[in-house]
Amino acid sequence: MSDQEHFEAGERVAVLTTQPLDRLLDYRAPEGGCFLGAYVEVPLGPRKVLGVVWGPGAGDFDSSKLRSVIRVLDVAPMRSEMRAFLGKAADYTLTPMPAMLRLASRAPGLSDPPSMRKILRRGDQEPDRMTDARARVLDAMEEFGGLAFTPKELADMAGVTPSVVKGLVKQGALREEETPRDLPYPHLDPDLPGKALTDDQAAAAAALEEGVKSGAYGTTLLKGVTGSGKTEVYLEAVAAALRAGRQALVLLPEIALTAEFLKRVEARFGATPAEWHSGATMTERRRVWRMVGQGKAQLVIGARSALFLPYRNLGLIIVDEEHDTSYKQEDGVLYNARDMAVLRAAMCSAQVVLASATPSLETWANADAGKYKRLDLTSRFGASVLPEMRAVDMRAEDLLPSTWISPTLKYAMKARLERGEQSLLFLNRRGFAPVTICRACGAQVACDHCDSRMVEHRFLKRLMCHQCGETKPVPEVCPSCQVEGKMAPVGPGIERLGEEAAALFPEARIAVLSSDLFGSARALKQRIEEIAAGEADIILGTQLVAKGHNFPLLTLVGVIDADLGLQGSDLRAAERTFQLMRQVAGRAGRAEKPGEALLQTFQPEHPVIRAILSGDEEAFWKAEAAERQAAGVPPFGRMAGIILSGSDLAQVFDLGETLARNDGALRQIGAQLFGPAPAPIARVRGRHRVRLLVKVAKGAPLQEAIARWIASVRPKGDLRLSVDIDPQSFF
Ligand code: ADP
Ligand code: ZN
Repeated sequence: MSDQEHFEAGERVAVLTTQPLDRLLDYRAPEGGCFLGAYVEVPLGPRKVLGVVWGPGAGDFDSSKLRSVIRVLDVAPMRSEMRAFLGKAADYTLTPMPAMLRLASRAPGLSDPPSMRKILRRGDQEPDRMTDARARVLDAMEEFGGLAFTPKELADMAGVTPSVVKGLVKQGALREEETPRDLPYPHLDPDLPGKALTDDQAAAAAALEEGVKSGAYGTTLLKGVTGSGKTEVYLEAVAAALRAGRQALVLLPEIALTAEFLKRVEARFGATPAEWHSGATMTERRRVWRMVGQGKAQLVIGARSALFLPYRNLGLIIVDEEHDTSYKQEDGVLYNARDMAVLRAAMCSAQVVLASATPSLETWANADAGKYKRLDLTSRFGASVLPEMRAVDMRAEDLLPSTWISPTLKYAMKARLERGEQSLLFLNRRGFAPVTICRACGAQVACDHCDSRMVEHRFLKRLMCHQCGETKPVPEVCPSCQVEGKMAPVGPGIERLGEEAAALFPEARIAVLSSDLFGSARALKQRIEEIAAGEADIILGTQLVAKGHNFPLLTLVGVIDADLGLQGSDLRAAERTFQLMRQVAGRAGRAEKPGEALLQTFQPEHPVIRAILSGDEEAFWKAEAAERQAAGVPPFGRMAGIILSGSDLAQVFDLGETLARNDGALRQIGAQLFGPAPAPIARVRGRHRVRLLVKVAKGAPLQEAIARWIASVRPKGDLRLSVDIDPQSFF
């Protein structure tokens, strides 16, 4: 079907809406007609809903009752390639099409007419009287130096009522202007000089450019240790895409990384690109969506949902830190952005670059099998070398009770302090203590709604459930035995480690980096920049710090509990630990000074720990691949998780049993079914969760069989069934 197909006024069209219906609805094309793919507003019962013209009407609906499309929205129609992509993605993830459409139309104000809008800039007057609220508004304005905001955005950012903003306008402290909504993005110039690349880097860049120039689909794993210049290299691929007049998308796993990245893009191409993530303002997101669709945004830097923007001519997708688990969306539509990037690229003849120091086993295996090309950057740029890695055998270390920094690590930190260098302690546990126990009866404080322990957050002065976010005060009296004053924290969280470090080094400047300690992504970003500039001696961080931040003064990484990730029953436990440890260790010695990484472990002889220390990655991947192959698990077999949930445990199990009894569709493709069994977290937010796991050989039509299988049941009441294809974690 061509994109130009046009329906005359009154002709029947089939419309896909964002409403949870399992079919297209017929309408009459409105006055003036509409194009295939047009975004439209249609009546549904008493409401107006958003939809896209998906094709000619089916004609099975009584034409006398047929209603008319209300209006065609003033945005570019959805291209056939995008419609096909959504369809394929829906089939792959077993997601209903309306949910896919919601993902693809998440632009605020999509149905607004194009128009002028009021924006505010700093005026030249000072307010007659400076109140706290007024100061907040002016601060917010200053913070974004010169940017303009709508009155509502400004009020929201400053946390004040609109009348405060209005008052400032009246006094001339803010100035109103009219501008067209949605300006195009400034032109990026691929021909500005890039950095002079090393031979290694130049060869990799040339190979990527070659791929982009071919105008065909292809996926390349760009593997290189942290600091080897992967970013410099793939920016050359971006340049090639821009030269070819095609759009490029760079996916980053973490919003906090965007600022640093934008600076690098600006240095390379002379202007800042479009940004798409939850931290961007509504106005900005609306602008990105529209400009991407009109081809007036050449490059988008974004989070995983940027894959669903309406590109006109997408030629390149970079997935940076492709192994990162945050690429898997774990609620709503369950998709893995890395896999969807490959799917999307295959459908629009684009290139994909998967960049990582520690690729996922899936990607490693695809490269190994020749499905992906592979480029290696083997050395770090410039003088920087990979840190020396050593295990600290905790069985031989002398520690006081409730302390976690071994003497060996302490001496290493002391040496850094004396030399004016930074140390980083890594512990992947938010909060103060993971467990709060009653020393009289031994009871642990659990969440009232979930099967999980409450974690003390001293910063908030409360206990928090990391499953559902519920909080409560730390009890004075034990909820089980009613004894008073015996509740005690057990085990370390990042906040507690901060106290220990402060006690050991009272003179040191200590920075704790944990996502929950910062009000906003912006505050966190700023803190990270300060630390990079040397405003801390000891940095304590959770998972957050493993992700690509650049701390030039950092020369020591101490991993408090290298065994932590190895305990789970998760299929990917070894892989995750390996990746995380190497990423964290890669933080040290990024500039001229050599780095050292110390891994505190009780099992230095564990194969994963040994592989991390020896640095023999290929050996690790091969061993891990062999194990998974033998077990027939991903990436050498396929899996799908089915999570059933509901408020009544017996009903949830009944549904599971019914599914298990009617597994004909699965048996036809030779799949094995496990469960029903309580999910590893058996209760979340008061809902019981039961899991079934399907395992089948690679190449079997898994989705199609599951679709037939689950169609045999109709979950009633508050029962819910969700399918997770290629589950990443088994919760
Ligand atoms: P990676 O993405 O592999 O972690 P980066 O591209 O961020 O590596 O490079 C690490 C640091 O080295 C960055 O500060 C980068 O600007 C610098 N760098 C890398 N290659 C070069 C080069 N050829 N010339 C100048 N600086 C470089
Ligand atoms: Zn809870």
